[in-house]
Amino acid sequence: MNDQAIKRVVIVGGGTAGWLSAAMLARVVNRSIEIVLVESEDIGTVGVGEATIPPLANLFIFLGIPEHEMLAAVQGTYKLGIEFVDWHRKGHRYTHAFGSPGRDLGIVPFYEYWLKEHLAGRGGSLWDYSLNDLAAQAGRFAPLKQLPNAPMAGLTHAWHFDAGLLAKFLRRVCEAQGVTRREGMVSGVNLRAEDGFIDSLTLSDGAIVEGDLFIDCSGFRGLLIEGALKAGYEDWTHVLPCDRAIAVPCASTQTLLPYTRATAHSAGWQWRIPLQHRIGNGHVFCSAFMAEDEARDILMTNLDGKALADPRTLSFTTGRRKASWVKNCVAFGLSSGFMEPLESTSIHLVQSGMTRFLKFFPDKGFSPLEIAEYNRLTAHEYELIRDFLVLHYKATQRDDSEFWNHCRTMTIPDSLAHKIDYFREHGRLIIEEADLFRDTNWAQVLIGQGIIPKSPSPLTLTVSDEKLGEYMANIRQLLSAAVAGLPDHGAYVAQNCRAKI
Ligand code: FAD
Repeated sequence: MNDQAIKRVVIVGGGTAGWLSAAMLARVVNRSIEIVLVESEDIGTVGVGEATIPPLANLFIFLGIPEHEMLAAVQGTYKLGIEFVDWHRKGHRYTHAFGSPGRDLGIVPFYEYWLKEHLAGRGGSLWDYSLNDLAAQAGRFAPLKQLPNAPMAGLTHAWHFDAGLLAKFLRRVCEAQGVTRREGMVSGVNLRAEDGFIDSLTLSDGAIVEGDLFIDCSGFRGLLIEGALKAGYEDWTHVLPCDRAIAVPCASTQTLLPYTRATAHSAGWQWRIPLQHRIGNGHVFCSAFMAEDEARDILMTNLDGKALADPRTLSFTTGRRKASWVKNCVAFGLSSGFMEPLESTSIHLVQSGMTRFLKFFPDKGFSPLEIAEYNRLTAHEYELIRDFLVLHYKATQRDDSEFWNHCRTMTIPDSLAHKIDYFREHGRLIIEEADLFRDTNWAQVLIGQGIIPKSPSPLTLTVSDEKLGEYMANIRQLLSAAVAGLPDHGAYVAQNCRAKI
């Protein structure tokens, strides 16, 4: 190993971000670099992040961990999408289901054909063609890569899990890969006089922890990236105004649903995340429009079953760190930014951030050019996700509260305004390669929130009404047969994903 090679990495934080980063790094460097993770049990973790999106499956494949083994360890369940209740208007619901509704015809996405039918008063709802939504509403699940008798994609899934248990599980994985955990409270960050790089950390017992590279997973406080290196924070409250969440677990009282529910209230929204042993709930709200007591009352009166703990309030500012990588420190997780949990993107951003960082993995030279490029790509990734989240708030017809009036009329980023206008006018979507959310995701939320284009795109007119009607009826038939063949989600989980006691 040459003199310039990184020999020791120090990770601060043992929440989802810390252990996930450690697991990915340990897998790649395969004991050739020493990895030390410092965490303080006294501080604890946020640990309410419980819903994920499909790309997380790639991480566990990469780590060589079988899905059922992981789900058994974290009381996990399957997630087929998110049901949005009362977002477009009160009494209305739609699903942002994973996977694409229908089947694309050549280069034209299926939703454009659906739109042609819809504008002619035919074809039913877009979600009549979504296998994920049909299975979700029927409460059914089993892994299904392809439909049994047709060249159509099967189910696309993610998971719900207990984030505290996931951190414990990943800790075991990391320790088996040689990662050293150090219990301790970081009380000082020591910078080198000559260039301001981090030299070492001081723990509250006086111990010094040295490293070549420091990974900040210390949560909202951003102990290294902000506290020591003053990266700065870009505040997005003007477009993502919620700034508090009250979380509480409750007992399950009904069958295990294979989806997350996000129910809009008068100054925010409430999540419902079904796990094997409980339901995770939380009310995300905007403190400028609602007092904490009222937000707590709304949450507690909208639980399925008995609360299993005292409600916990978390404060946050939506936005992102101006630079996630500064000198010899890179931040992942909440210390890098937070855009609220509406589309379950935070844990994904840890995974994608670490994946990107590994591509740019530095030596002790810490090339400013590479750091700048990493930061540019990271900023852009955050902005694309931000736009998708803002869409949910902006595209509402609700006028029953000051909060929704504010959201409906707020000025949104030009990038999002352009996308909405273009869709409304042409029925087409402009999706950048770097966007986590693809046309199927955007189309479901736009249509679900009542933005219906004026006319179908011209290429859809090349298929006759008769042929299209037959095609769509055939898809509906295939999907309903596929759903009927699936087992109950709860039964599948009980059989395959239960912890062996
Ligand atoms: P934390 O969990 O806060 O961990 C910070 C770690 O740093 C802890 O181990 C702490 O001990 C340590 N630490 C801090 N200071 C010190 C110190 N001085 N010395 C030593 N150690 C220190 N994400 C999703 O993907 N899906 C969701 O559904 C979801 N829901 C969420 C809901 C809410 C309300 C919030 C706030 C977040 C949600 N998230 C969700 C985000 C998700 O919880 C986090 O992204 C994820 O858990 C990562 O958190 P973290 O590890 O960055 O921070």
